Amino acid sequence: MKDMNLNYFNPTRIISGTGCLRNYNTFSDIGKRCFIVTGKNSGKKSGALDDAIQALNNSGVSYMIFDEVENNPSTETCKKAGNLAHEFNASFIMGIGGGSPIDAAKAIAIYAANPVLPIDDIFNATYANRPLPIVAVNTTVGTGSEVTPFSILTVHSLGTKKGIANDNLFPKISFLDPMHAMSLPQDILVSTAIDAFSHAIEGYFSRKATLMTNTYAEAAMRLLSKGLMTVYGGGYDYDLVADFMYASTLAGKVISATSTCAVHSMGYSLTYHLGVPHGTANAYFLPNFIRLMAESSPMRVMSVLKFCNMTSVDQLSSLLNKLLPLDVKLSCEQIEQFSQEVIKTAHVKNSIRPLGIDEVRNLYKKSVGQ
Ligand code: NAP
Ligand code: FE
Repeated sequence: MKDMNLNYFNPTRIISGTGCLRNYNTFSDIGKRCFIVTGKNSGKKSGALDDAIQALNNSGVSYMIFDEVENNPSTETCKKAGNLAHEFNASFIMGIGGGSPIDAAKAIAIYAANPVLPIDDIFNATYANRPLPIVAVNTTVGTGSEVTPFSILTVHSLGTKKGIANDNLFPKISFLDPMHAMSLPQDILVSTAIDAFSHAIEGYFSRKATLMTNTYAEAAMRLLSKGLMTVYGGGYDYDLVADFMYASTLAGKVISATSTCAVHSMGYSLTYHLGVPHGTANAYFLPNFIRLMAESSPMRVMSVLKFCNMTSVDQLSSLLNKLLPLDVKLSCEQIEQFSQEVIKTAHVKNSIRPLGIDEVRNLYKKSVGQ
């Protein structure tokens, strides 16, 4: 008998298209005071900050801007901004940028509503007060944070990145205007698109995958592989960026239900310890992760290759190597240290074939060994 699994929950309202944020004028339905969270440049360069200000003015909503979010935001930055948002008496938080400002906005929404929460207790499951509502304005094509209940934060006291998963962190509204991603330099466009590609593929191999998430993953893989081949062939235009933005949101809808697998937790170590951008860090491990999954699920790997219009994992590996400089090499000591960190994470058990310590070590050796 067919085992039908369509279980799914994703409450974020998506508003999309050119000018969708600029022309919005009913933010007062969410609240009268908006705390805007963005990075040093992304909000301004993308035009999204100007659009947000126009929309808030048209809605009769007052605002305060915090533009100090660093890449891979830390709990310290979010706590500092949370205190400012609390003092401002914010009624909602708007994250403008890539995954870093949007994830920061989610953490700030928790700290602002819970000003006495100790900084590291943000990773506990319950809070005295519900986080403030979150609005996301996406300017990259990767994380899918605009439709996930996750916030990934850098925790310097632990020497790594750690995630919060809480249904109250699904943004209330997400704005997807491809014009906001047109200012992305090609290397960030490619790296973030590969993050989305990784979400679709890891979600497809997740133990939590359902018919619903697989449908989103399949569509995302088709668009992203075609788009990445086009970028390699020479440049990109509005239509391609729009496809990437659509696909990254689809892939975000996948991981909102499936979470990510070992590729992500292994990538976090390259990002935290060596500063490798998030999507690029995933690219190092993706081909060998798929090869490992082929040992137990060859048919599923065949499907992935079919959606990507490829005939072998080598073809995927070669595309990733052409698109990004994948030249990081780790010493034996680093591999051992990172493997011990990664094996403690839930990601390694999330794939249909769970990974043990030897498999994590081997994946590091094959992907970034000297
Ligand atoms: P990002 O860290 O938000 O941004 C990368 C760089 O791109 C920054 O320097 C940023 O500038 C710049 N930038 C962003 N948009 C731009 C634009 N339109 N034009 C020009 N420059 C632009 O990158 P990301 O890959 O989107 O996010 C990565 C973070 O998301 C990581 O912390 C990762 O762990 C997390 N993540 C979250 C989820 C989730 O579900 N929540 C899933 C996967 C990954 P600024 O410095 O000015 O911002
Ligand atoms: Fe990611």
